[in-house]
Amino acid sequence: MVSTIYIPMATNRKVEKLLTKKRDVERELKVIRDLCKHEKKVLRLVPLKASPSQVDTRWVCERCDIPLGYPNQEEIKKFLSK
Ligand SMILES: [Zn+2]
Repeated sequence: MVSTIYIPMATNRKVEKLLTKKRDVERELKVIRDLCKHEKKVLRLVPLKASPSQVDTRWVCERCDIPLGYPNQEEIKKFLSK
């Protein structure tokens, strides 16, 4: 079976550029997060990985935004009533 995968050059190059950018951003983010001591956590609404149109509450580091854990019901209630 012969299959031809046709990827227009322009799109391909654009995707490649975006992926390179994404890798650079992720690397930079990792460096910041590795250096961060996560001293202060804040509650934040974050998009769900499985469906980014939905949000959930998470404890994240105030400085580097890394997820640090799930809040309990009491903490969520307090957060949402603010
Ligand atoms: Zn941090």
